[in-house]
Amino acid sequence: DDLLDLTKITHGKLNLRSESCDAHALIALAIEIVSEDAHQKGVTIESTFSARRSRLVADPARFQQVIWNLVRNAVKFTPRGGKVSVRTMDEITPGADNWLRIQVVDTGRGIDPAALEQIFLPFNQGDLTGDHRFGGVGLGLAIARAVVLMHGGQLTAESPGLTQGATFIVKLPGATEPPSGVTDTATPFTGIKPDRRKKPVPLRLLVVEDHPSTLNALVHLLQRDGHEVTAASSVAEALHAAERQTFDLLVSDLGLPDGSGLELMEKLRTSHGLSGIALSGYGTDDDVSRTRSAGFAAHLTKPVAIGELRRALARVTTDATGAGA
Ligand code: ADP
Repeated sequence: DDLLDLTKITHGKLNLRSESCDAHALIALAIEIVSEDAHQKGVTIESTFSARRSRLVADPARFQQVIWNLVRNAVKFTPRGGKVSVRTMDEITPGADNWLRIQVVDTGRGIDPAALEQIFLPFNQGDLTGDHRFGGVGLGLAIARAVVLMHGGQLTAESPGLTQGATFIVKLPGATEPPSGVTDTATPFTGIKPDRRKKPVPLRLLVVEDHPSTLNALVHLLQRDGHEVTAASSVAEALHAAERQTFDLLVSDLGLPDGSGLELMEKLRTSHGLSGIALSGYGTDDDVSRTRSAGFAAHLTKPVAIGELRRALARVTTDATGAGA
């Protein structure tokens, strides 16, 4: 995949599918993908999202790929007991307001200052040449930098030296409003002006996810779309919430600490006639048919782009009510 991306970049054939998206939600999803590996390795990942403006006009999948790459590298090059911090802040750039700065800081093996620029060259592995103990082929950063440049931003690295940790910095121009000509979905520009887009029908949603930053991101984005959202991080919490409130739909992760999202869906379907959207790490036909038979009306494979979730919500509610959503 990396080689294919690099070839497309070299030939100017990498197309961005830009949409208005929330950087914090996408960063949280990228961290989640790496979190299991980090946990196994004994490396802590913490995130501090301080940026007040986190909206970007970006290709969500590509943006997530960049952050995933940086966090994965940080975990890869940090020994057990180390720490990776992902931070966002508003970037103050003279003459250009509203930029976003994202830093991935680790306490790992660091980078020789002489290699700080070379590591962005394709097939360059800094001073690791010939040493494949860390795996990889040295394409990730070359692709990440090209993708960030295509978004009008910058990707740089800093390190005080070997053994002293590294910091990767992404700076991107932010967006407060989706500019005209950019749709709020993952589909490329279709010429529909933002003010003609249909507003989603407000729903009462029960969102269940045990990863705190992903849950926060989902709740934040869905509330911003006008939905009434109740958050739960386990099967027990979700069942408790469903006893006290009425919901239109369940949006649930499948791997929960005290059981499975499948069981939860089955119970809520039986007791409350509820339907739902499954957020799953797996997307084979078997996985999809399992979620369907548990009562989920849609199955989204993680990482889930918000545009995809919005479309699934619209589709599921249209199917259920027969009305346009
Ligand atoms: P790969 O990880 O496949 O080698 P990358 O392009 O992602 O390729 O990285 C290139 C090189 O940059 C790595 O081989 C490593 O030497 C260096 N590097 C990247 N991230 C870090 C980091 N967080 N700490 C130390 N070195 C790093």
